[in-house]
Amino acid sequence: MTRTSDFLIIGGGIAGAGAAARLAPVASVTVLETEDALGRHATGRSAAIYIRNYGNKTLRALNAASEPVLENPEGISDESLLSPRGQMLIATEEELDAYEAYLNGAEGMETLTADEAVALFPLLRKDRIAAAAIERDARDIDVDRFLQGCARLAKRHGTQFVMKAPAQQITRISDKWHVDTPQGAFEAPILINAAGAWGDEIAVMARVQKVGLVPMRRSAAILPPPEGVDVTGWPFVASASESWYAKPDAGKLMVSPADEDPVEPHDAWADDMALAEGLYRFEQAVTMPLTRVERNWAGLRSFVSDRTPVVGFATDAEGFFWLAGQGGYGVQTAPALSQLVADLCFGRVSGLGDDVVQALNPARLF
Ligand SMILES: Cc1cc2nc3c(=O)[nH]c(=O)nc-3n(C[C@H](O)[C@H](O)[C@H](O)COP(=O)(O)OP(=O)(O)OC[C@H]3O[C@@H](n4cnc5c(N)ncnc54)[C@H](O)[C@@H]3O)c2cc1C
Repeated sequence: MTRTSDFLIIGGGIAGAGAAARLAPVASVTVLETEDALGRHATGRSAAIYIRNYGNKTLRALNAASEPVLENPEGISDESLLSPRGQMLIATEEELDAYEAYLNGAEGMETLTADEAVALFPLLRKDRIAAAAIERDARDIDVDRFLQGCARLAKRHGTQFVMKAPAQQITRISDKWHVDTPQGAFEAPILINAAGAWGDEIAVMARVQKVGLVPMRRSAAILPPPEGVDVTGWPFVASASESWYAKPDAGKLMVSPADEDPVEPHDAWADDMALAEGLYRFEQAVTMPLTRVERNWAGLRSFVSDRTPVVGFATDAEGFFWLAGQGGYGVQTAPALSQLVADLCFGRVSGLGDDVVQALNPARLF
């Protein structure tokens, strides 16, 4: 028997769950997810930070629009999803151009002396810091609470989350999309493609033009801090050319080589060489000897050519909605993007403004 709803969402990451939470109060929604739990891919592997100045102009607008919801996630969680962290950018002499470019148009960033930067993150080598600045209001995001809260909100309004249900065949029959999965067949007039790195694969299955999504692998490792050093209250610190970053994580340091290697969509794991090279770059910037890596992982950040998310109805297929290409910003922009999904699907005017909505529109890519 085919199960029918108003919306079918493919993908149970923060994009799919967030969209479901905003659509469900008004319409019936079914979310199909390949894995046996939500958030197994990019969403569960992120650095979990909100940085207002991260990304291009459109992303900065989405970050700003998302902040109030992350602070006061009504219906999703009783408490703020954000907690204090701060994000410090440091530059060597060679990175000064990248540093200036980042600060251009940035809001709420305070420049620091090298001494001040080292006082905040005492493992840094002062002689390597030509410039430093901090966004004090950058904060950690409780990603799991966010994801589970969105799913709970959607379920309260009747959304069905169907696990172990990879979309295997997608066809448009008269006015509905039909999706076959090992858990049975599903249909809806509107299909939302929130499949993360697999977004273009879903398009091919549905015979919709691809948007040119490139999944990029990003690796991370957990390192123990030096004996007796408490890193808990230190900021996130990133090199201005994004060649590494480090962040306190449950008393340890999470260090990423900030790698961006294009790969096919898959269940990603850290590349030994990328990790080793990135840890070497981190080691050059700090006084700490790297003794051991406790664990490592990787996830896929998926981008289209202009590194801006793709959100809106496809122009070549009725009822096919793109929610893809969130790159390295998909958690922190999820509140604004989920709201936009609901606004576009229900024909409401988006509070994001027309320039932002057009910058996200899939039509720009063709
Ligand atoms: C190392 C790393 C650090 C990051 N740091 C941050 C950060 O600090 N802040 C931030 O905002 N963002 C960050 N990101 C980016 C963020 O994680 C992503 O943009 C976001 O999670 C994307 O969410 P998503 O739901 O689109 O994708 P995903 O979480 O990947 O979800 C897509 C889901 O679709 C499912 N799926 C795929 N194909 C099918 C199918 N055929 N049928 C059914 N289901 C299917 C998959 O199983 C998957 O669960 C980071 C990413 C990485 C990898």
